[in-house]
Amino acid sequence: NHARHIASHSRIYDSSMSQQLLDEQQMLERLKLAINEEKLSLYYQPQFDVRTGKLCGAEALCRWHDEELGNVPPMQFIQLAEERGLIYSLGNWVVREAITQLQDWLTHYDGFAGTLSVNISALQFEDPYMANYLIEKTSDLPKGVFALELTESIMMQNPQHGMKQLQRLQDSGIGIAVDDFGTGYSSLSYLTQFPISVLKIDRTFIQKMYPGNHQHAIVTTIIAMAEALGLDTVAEGVETPEQEATLKALGCFCMQGFLRGKPVPANEFAERWLQPKLSDNESRINNKFLE
Ligand code: C2E
Ligand code: MG
Ligand code: MG
Ligand code: MG
Repeated sequence: NHARHIASHSRIYDSSMSQQLLDEQQMLERLKLAINEEKLSLYYQPQFDVRTGKLCGAEALCRWHDEELGNVPPMQFIQLAEERGLIYSLGNWVVREAITQLQDWLTHYDGFAGTLSVNISALQFEDPYMANYLIEKTSDLPKGVFALELTESIMMQNPQHGMKQLQRLQDSGIGIAVDDFGTGYSSLSYLTQFPISVLKIDRTFIQKMYPGNHQHAIVTTIIAMAEALGLDTVAEGVETPEQEATLKALGCFCMQGFLRGKPVPANEFAERWLQPKLSDNESRINNKFLE
C-alpha cells in the first residue's frame, strides 16, 4: 500500500513536472511570436515632483497580453526571456518603442518634463553592442530626457565593463537610475565610482515606513546620502497620502505610485498628463524670427 502510494504520488509529480515544462515551452513559443510580431506593449507610469506635484517623468513598463494565456505578469515573462535568450530582442524593442513614443510626446505635446526611463536587464547590459544601440537611437533627443533603470547587480557583476559602458552612455546624455535601491547585496562604494544620477528607493521601504521605525530610518538615510552625493531620489510604490507627506518632509525629489498614477497606455498617458501643442505653434515660432 505504501509503495503504491509512493508510485502514484511520483506519477503525479512527474506529470505535473512535464506539464510545467510543456507550459513553459508553450509560453516561450508564444512570447517569441509576440516579440517578432510586435505584440507586446508599453505602459507608462507618471512620476511627480514631491514638492510641486508637477509631472517630472515616467517609467516605461512592458506588458504582454496573449490571446490564450491572458495578461502575463512582467516578472514572469521577463524572467523567461532572460533564461531563454529572448531578452535581447525584447529589450531592443522596448528601447525602440519608448524612444519613438518620447519623440512623439516632445514633438506634439507640451508638458513632458523630466525623463522617460526604461528597465534594462543585467544580461542585456552585458551585450557589448547595447550601448552603441542606445547611443544611436537617442542621438536625436535632447540630453537628459531618456534614462535607463538598472539594478545594483549590474554594477557588481562586471564592474570594469559596466563602468565603461555607463560612462559612454552618460557622455551621450543618457541618465542612469539605480532601480530597487536598497534591496541588493552590493557595497555602497559603487555609488562613487559609477556615473549614476538617480536612486529609486525600493517600494518595500516606502510601504512599510512609519515615523520612528526602521524603514523610516532607512528612507531618511537614503535621501540624505543621495543629497550629499548629488543624486536625485525617486520613491517607488507610493500608495498613501501619509507616505507622500513623509517623503515631502524628508526632501525626496520625485515619487511614483498608485496614489498619483498607475501605469497606463501611451494615449491615456498623453490624455491625462500632457497638452497637445497648438497647431499654430510652428507659425508663431516663424513669426518670431520675422519680427
Ligand atoms: P520595476 O522596474 O521596479 O517597476 C516598478 C513596478 O512597481 C511595476 O510593476 C509597477 O507597476 C509597480 N508599481 C508602481 N507603483 C506601484 C504601487 O504604488 N504599488 C504597487 N504595489 N506596485 C507599484 P510591473 O509593471 O509589474 O513590473 C515588474 C518588474 O518587471 C519591474 O519592476 C521590472 O523589474 C520588470 N520590467 C517591467 N518592464 C520591463 C522591461 O521592459 N524590461 C525589463 N528588463 N524589465 C521590465
Ligand atoms: Mg524600474
Ligand atoms: Mg523598481
Ligand atoms: Mg522591481
